[in-house]
Amino acid sequence: MRVVVVGAGLAGLTAALELEAAGADVAVLEARDRVGGRMHGIRATPGVVADGGAAYLGVRHTELLALIREYGLRLASTEMLGESTFLIGTERTTTASRVPPLDAIALGDLFDRLDDLVGQVRLDAPWQSPGAECLDRISAADWLADAVKRPDAHTFFPLFLGEMMAADPAAISALHMAFYLRSGGGIRYLNAFEGGAQQWRIDGGSHQLCEAMADRLGDRVRLGRTVRAIHQNRDGVVVRCVSDADAALTEYPANRVVVALPPVLAQRIEFRPGLRAPRATATTGRGCAVKVHMGYQSPVWRDHGLSGWSVSTSGPLLSTVDDSPPDGSAGVLTGFVTGAAATDFSALSTAQQMDSALAHARRLFPGLPAPMRCTVTDWLGEKYSRGCYAALFGPGDWLRLGPTLTEPHGRVHWAGTETSLEFFGLMEGAIRSGRRVATELIEGADVATHSRKVLSR
Ligand SMILES: Cc1cc2nc3c(=O)[nH]c(=O)nc-3n(C[C@H](O)[C@H](O)[C@H](O)COP(=O)(O)OP(=O)(O)OC[C@H]3O[C@@H](n4cnc5c(N)ncnc54)[C@H](O)[C@@H]3O)c2cc1C
Repeated sequence: MRVVVVGAGLAGLTAALELEAAGADVAVLEARDRVGGRMHGIRATPGVVADGGAAYLGVRHTELLALIREYGLRLASTEMLGESTFLIGTERTTTASRVPPLDAIALGDLFDRLDDLVGQVRLDAPWQSPGAECLDRISAADWLADAVKRPDAHTFFPLFLGEMMAADPAAISALHMAFYLRSGGGIRYLNAFEGGAQQWRIDGGSHQLCEAMADRLGDRVRLGRTVRAIHQNRDGVVVRCVSDADAALTEYPANRVVVALPPVLAQRIEFRPGLRAPRATATTGRGCAVKVHMGYQSPVWRDHGLSGWSVSTSGPLLSTVDDSPPDGSAGVLTGFVTGAAATDFSALSTAQQMDSALAHARRLFPGLPAPMRCTVTDWLGEKYSRGCYAALFGPGDWLRLGPTLTEPHGRVHWAGTETSLEFFGLMEGAIRSGRRVATELIEGADVATHSRKVLSR
């Protein structure tokens, strides 16, 4: 059986390797001139590559941890020693605690209400959760206005959703918020460094995993091939793509296709016959995240007793984290601009973005020298990602899109982190979606026999 996989992100590469191991003849078509999609290494200092995209993982990300072991990559702990920095309004404080200096009752109340909501969601079919119709109709902002009255909860909520989901609470449905938090392991797991979803990074960058997987696939991976159309009939399917290098159109005939793209990008492909159910709607949003890396000679903030971790109530850098190499041979401070703040930030020129980020860093860490290097990775402008960390389902989307997210369209099958009900939006979800789709194809057809037949023609 010949399978064309569209997209060489973690999901597409996982599916391709599994199918290839089962005897399928695989080709992976990737629009960019690199593999990895939302996993992308950038140079933070002359000698250090940092994560411009996905970075953190935890003990429950079992498939990801297994791949990290299989490809001989190393984990770097995110353990932070030293005081946290908070910029609440204009007031800067440093403290040993990780809890922002806001009304503790308000934050406790907010988390209790969120816990109740998250506990209601059915992971196997969020659209069938109790009260799903109502929760999918309102935004997360509407839910908050109704559920929690204390002002500090309203101050903290957008920061929390920005950090967890790169989401503006007004743009996602309450059901999507609750589902995402449940799918990722619950609020406390997702939010935690030690013992939580942010316990480790891959030393040297998560993109190395995708590069190693692509190396194993060799010339089955074709870069610079943007898929524009997928036409199928009873005999087979043809994938049409355009080459970045010379705008040449190429056709790849196949028995099956795996589309491993974020839903808004899959929706742009011309399908014949047309899709029975949409992959995205006008309310399906893009996650809004920009990462700013500041590279130093060493983690100088540690000399000041600071962990480098900070939270600010206004942008651009709503949070920062110490992403320095484990041996401390250089200092890397990563700033996150998320949610509504990211939309404003993304509209600035690169020079303005750097000026604004560096001015914010000076307010957070007044004793530090200027970084040697400042790099901005703006995912809002990435045409082959359409935002990050992941797609955001707006009001109505789960009820409309959820039931058919993984339903094959004839010979076309779906993967990508947004098709995974477990760890949706995360690297772990991407791997699980790739494994699920490969099993779907392998169990649906005797791949090895088909492959032999195709090869013997
Ligand atoms: C800033 C940021 C921070 C993140 N933080 C974390 C984190 O800490 N932990 C975590 O687990 N996850 C995190 N994520 C999410 C994680 O990166 C994704 O869940 C995961 O990488 C998605 O993999 P995928 O294969 O499903 O999709 P993608 O990586 O998006 O892969 C899709 C691929 O398809 C290609 N493509 C698009 N259109 C076409 C086309 N028409 N034809 C051919 N190819 C096409 C793209 O170029 C891309 O390579 C983060 C993401 C970002 C951007």
